[in-house]
Amino acid sequence: MKRVALLGATGSIGRQAIEIVVAHPELELCAAASGSTPLDDVAAPLKQVGGDLTELLERAQPDVVLNAVVGFAGVHATLWALEHGVDLALANKESLVAAGELALAARLRGGGRILPVDSEHSALFQCLEGREPEQVDTLVLTGSGGPFRGRRREELETVGPEQALAHPTWRMGPKITIDSATLANKGLEVIEAHFLFGVPYDRIEVVIQPTSIVHSLVRFRDGAALAHLGYPDMRVPISYALTYPQRAETPLRPLDLASLALEFAEPDTETFPMLSLARSAGEEGGGAPCVYNAANEVAVGAFLAGRLPFLAIPDVVHETLETVGSGSVRDLDELLTLDRQARACAEGALTAAAGGRG
Ligand code: NAD
Ligand code: MG
Repeated sequence: MKRVALLGATGSIGRQAIEIVVAHPELELCAAASGSTPLDDVAAPLKQVGGDLTELLERAQPDVVLNAVVGFAGVHATLWALEHGVDLALANKESLVAAGELALAARLRGGGRILPVDSEHSALFQCLEGREPEQVDTLVLTGSGGPFRGRRREELETVGPEQALAHPTWRMGPKITIDSATLANKGLEVIEAHFLFGVPYDRIEVVIQPTSIVHSLVRFRDGAALAHLGYPDMRVPISYALTYPQRAETPLRPLDLASLALEFAEPDTETFPMLSLARSAGEEGGGAPCVYNAANEVAVGAFLAGRLPFLAIPDVVHETLETVGSGSVRDLDELLTLDRQARACAEGALTAAAGGRG
């Protein structure tokens, strides 16, 4: 029996995770948490709406923590699992982006494992298994390009939440769906890949693959490129992470190869600056990824609330990165302070950015 603590149980990943746990008799939920949504229909011995996630984890003593919380709020649970040597099935990419160095240090001390749930990173993890680091040339993250792929900037001046929420290939929570429309999601994923696999930024590529069938690739030094293929269905990486290393049987339809045509394209970083901003924040290191993430969370919240135009999201993040810089993040307290400082600065930048564009 593997005892799973599911954080973010009422979300898109959380719901699909419950489906996987129910389908696998060797998995059981020992705890479930949400931010504010009631957990009435979730069957778990320990349940918690809001409050301190690490307190719940202390009580539950799980074998694996599935962190499917959205945003920086997941950081305490990520660090708890790594510090305690408990397997971390990680959907909450924001925590690894913001707390990358701290998370790696906690993993080193605690001996925990990170099992990526993000589909691209699950793909990379599987392509990399059993290889030596020196054999790896580059990681290639794929992305669908989001709902606005192929659009020019001037066509995006008036797009609102409804259009941005219409993702072409994945059904996900609102925050990550907006991130997919701005390419911030791919930016966060570049930083996530850097911390997960220890590969420098100049050896992490991004390519657009509009149907999300190719989940990512690894190029090796001998010229071979290994890819991971499948329909876009998060139950596959969730199941992989929760049943690792068993790769337990999951009843999903097999890939119909004859019906596929695979196309690839370069990402349009001029129309979608969030990808390049993430890369430079990652390369700057220190607290810069935390600042990028915090500013993005504020900007996305404002966009969803109708307070910020779509094209102003990167302006807010750029302005915040310029003003706050990379800060110091030697411990969790410093990280929390930097996150708060970046959020306050981004709130200030909202007014200017929204006003500047009318
Ligand atoms: P969602 O908005 O559907 O669900 C978020 C969940 O987090 C909800 O259960 C909510 O109650 C909970 N939550 C929010 N704040 C909380 C807090 N302070 N404490 C405890 N719980 C809190 O989001 P989602 O789409 O399921 O995404 C969750 C995470 O997984 C995100 O980090 C996202 O980037 C990542 N992810 C999602 C997908 C996907 O297909 N949905 C794919 C890859 C990665
Ligand atoms: Mg992803």
